[in-house]
Amino acid sequence: MPTVSELVNRLTQPHPVELSQSTWFQEEARAERFVGLTRVVLISVWLVVTASVSGLVPPIANLSNLGVGLVWWVWCCLYAVYLHQHPYRAPFKYLSTTVDMVLNTVILYLYHYGMGYSTSLKAPAFMSYLILGFMAAYRYSVVLPLYAGGLAIAGFAGLVWYFTATGTIAFGMSLESYTTPVVSASVLFFQMAFIAAAAVLGALYAYSIRKLVDRQVAYEIAIERERQLARTDALTGLNNRRHFVDLAEHELVSARRYHRPISLILFDIDHFKQVNDRWGHTLGDEILKHVADGARAHLREADVLGRYGGEEFAVLLPDNGAQPARVVAERIRQTIADHDIETGTGPIRVTISLGIAELGPTEDTLSALIHRADQAMYAAKRAGRNQTVAFTSDMARL
Ligand code: GH3
Ligand code: MG
Ligand code: MG
Repeated sequence: MPTVSELVNRLTQPHPVELSQSTWFQEEARAERFVGLTRVVLISVWLVVTASVSGLVPPIANLSNLGVGLVWWVWCCLYAVYLHQHPYRAPFKYLSTTVDMVLNTVILYLYHYGMGYSTSLKAPAFMSYLILGFMAAYRYSVVLPLYAGGLAIAGFAGLVWYFTATGTIAFGMSLESYTTPVVSASVLFFQMAFIAAAAVLGALYAYSIRKLVDRQVAYEIAIERERQLARTDALTGLNNRRHFVDLAEHELVSARRYHRPISLILFDIDHFKQVNDRWGHTLGDEILKHVADGARAHLREADVLGRYGGEEFAVLLPDNGAQPARVVAERIRQTIADHDIETGTGPIRVTISLGIAELGPTEDTLSALIHRADQAMYAAKRAGRNQTVAFTSDMARL
């Protein structure tokens, strides 16, 4: 069972805005748990009140009332515990509404049967059906409030019919005496109409809430998609340069704060101009995708990979110094160098040259790190391409 503070939290939390069809289900589950707990509280209060006014009503009414109330209470407690411990099942909200309405009708029947007269039928019947109706409307379902309203009206009408048929009450106007078993037909009709109207309003409320939230969700999904597009390189699906820099800056801050190593690999496809010239730009694009996939395959979740320029890629490796970075770089290089790219005109192979730089002492910046990796990469190009070179201080003088 949740603690009191959890309960208060749940009550005061705003409804999450990020709802989709599947999270609607979760939201319904949350609402159902809330209704389950509310019902336990309401019925507990009602039982205590009924027990404490036991002197005021005839014994039969009170006993049967308490008895059925107790059955209801136990059922509600079991249901609340069940909801808390098991995954939510949508049909259960219909089941629980049915049990609510039927037990409410039974209790009202027993109460008035025991009381022997039924002018007092109106207020408690009306109130209890209405409260249960509100609980149905809370569950984000359009049909449930209508279903609950139907059951409430059927139960209410059944009670009135029973007491009228058995002569317990008669329709008419009676202002003379409270003991006269007379009920105003128009008031009863008005009350039933009120319950029906509440059910329709509940359904409309659920419908409009769902529509509003769905629209909000669609809007947020669109915004998120735009945001995603703005961060991603359309050709390779990698982080674009701007987003790579953002992520890398972020990683650098935490590496500096916790004194952890971090290194950067920059790599560039060898003689890519020739590839384009020979096979055309479209095939060049295919090769870019192939290289991006090859690099991606060797990286961990924490590593940051981006398309840094036209055919230049960057990898940031948090928690890795230049030595482990070289291992990763070599794996990427080997994969690209060893695999053919299938094209319509036969297989093609490309190679890449890689430069590595490691984050230095506190004053170091991302642009300095990139600059050093770039110098190392050009050293690799000069040394004959298809290789990995780590930055050394003598390169800085070049
Ligand atoms: P190097 O080995 O020295 O790197 O020689 P390179 O020919 O690869 O020289 P460089 O790196 O300067 O070549 C860049 C070329 O990459 C120029 C351009 O045609 C090509 N390129 C850049 N972006 C794209 C792209 O999006 N698609 C294609 N197909 N080619 C691109
Ligand atoms: Mg190149
Ligand atoms: Mg280049």
